[in-house]
Amino acid sequence: MNRICPCQALQVKPKTYADCCQPLHEGTPAPSCERLMRSRYSAFVLGLSEYVKITWHASTRPDDLQLEPDSQWVKLDIISSSKKQVHFRAYFKDENGGYSVLDETSDFVFQDRWLYLEGDTSIKPHKPERNDVCLCGSGKKFKKCCGQ
Ligand SMILES: [Zn+2]
Ligand SMILES: [Zn+2]
Repeated sequence: MNRICPCQALQVKPKTYADCCQPLHEGTPAPSCERLMRSRYSAFVLGLSEYVKITWHASTRPDDLQLEPDSQWVKLDIISSSKKQVHFRAYFKDENGGYSVLDETSDFVFQDRWLYLEGDTSIKPHKPERNDVCLCGSGKKFKKCCGQ
């Protein structure tokens, strides 16, 4: 399958799902916490409950986790990452027809494989800059698209 990986949507040179998160979803261990974070984001978009569960540390994992494919997520930006922490922003369509951004700094632990531990999260309405790529998926800049 040559579709773009959910974690690569609206990026300049997006990787395909097969070259990005698919191998991780099929059992290849994530080589870094950033790759694990990306694959978990993609799993949320695709509704892969089982993957989200097995990559979540048992001490913080919710007992009940049933995901459905979720098309409201439109873009993921990794702001920075270090050995055990990833700071990212994930953009999604909100109920008002605009976009909001989830800003999270996530902590990971390595126990035979990388696991998500917990995150420090905030959600705010997204205020696009004029030169940002428009989140509607047109491929145009915001100022030449929905920002007109
Ligand atoms: Zn990916
Ligand atoms: Zn637009």
